[in-house]
Amino acid sequence: MDLRAWQDVIARTYGERDRRRGLFPTYAWFVEEVGELAGALLSGDREALVLEFSDALAWLLSVANLAGVDLEDAMARYREGCPKCGASPCVCPYEDPPLR
Ligand SMILES: [Zn+2]
Repeated sequence: MDLRAWQDVIARTYGERDRRRGLFPTYAWFVEEVGELAGALLSGDREALVLEFSDALAWLLSVANLAGVDLEDAMARYREGCPKCGASPCVCPYEDPPLR
């Protein structure tokens, strides 16, 4: 399945509930799931990591549905490589910011 098909699955499964909850509360749930993903990344628990990736992506798909954004179309800008330099791998000058 492509991203659009997954977005449709999430719309069918949670669309009505997501619309009742509204855009920003749904976004807040997405952020909560991203926090749980951070915990799973730090835990080293492979099963938890897979679960949290799927939850975070599912909530992102819900937010996109509510915002009326087709993520298959949105991601097309990355299809041919980096949207800035056009290369794959990217050749943009980049330096990681210092950790605080
Ligand atoms: Zn680039």
